[in-house]
Amino acid sequence: MKIGILALQGDFAEHGSMLKKLGVETVEVRLPEHLNGLHGLIIPGGESTTIGKLAVAYGLMDPLREFGKSHAIWGTCAGAIFLSNDIGRDQPLLGLMNIKVQRNAFGRQVDSFETDLEIEELYKATRTKHPYHAVFIRAPIIQSVGGNAKVLSALEDGRIVAAQQGHLLATSFHPELTDDTRFHEYFISLAG
Ligand code: GLN
Repeated sequence: MKIGILALQGDFAEHGSMLKKLGVETVEVRLPEHLNGLHGLIIPGGESTTIGKLAVAYGLMDPLREFGKSHAIWGTCAGAIFLSNDIGRDQPLLGLMNIKVQRNAFGRQVDSFETDLEIEELYKATRTKHPYHAVFIRAPIIQSVGGNAKVLSALEDGRIVAAQQGHLLATSFHPELTDDTRFHEYFISLAG
């Protein structure tokens, strides 16, 4: 199992540590040829505008879209924004997932927060039952899911914070910033 991590900007190193803990081989992806031989790709959190601009500059947009047709991709936070097909403003998006996303939906940096989530799919996949502690940093929300995308987790007030469309996964929060490896295990199961 070999998982790539898009390493243009953001917290790709933290995802790398998480995957190493799980014994998975990782590759930092900066150019289209780095996608060869990968089973899946993680797009980290950071700044979606920057990630998008750099992906355009390095000729990665079409290779990433092509990769996503047949491989697992997981976008966390800025990565989720980049995977979506509608954010109500103009910036480079892969448009792979049928989700409408609102950037910075919880406000500014000071409004970052942590909370426990109930995620049934995650419990099933990892045979656990305890809540998932999620870290939100200038996080987006998923305003709606369409087509064959489905809601994986929502806050108590109903706002969607995780969605899945086949082998594509989007989370508003940052599973790479906790000690809980369950989300990474779940993604590996999608990539496998
Ligand atoms: N606010 C960032 C954006 O809109 C995302 C923040 C993050 O990835 N933690 O791209």
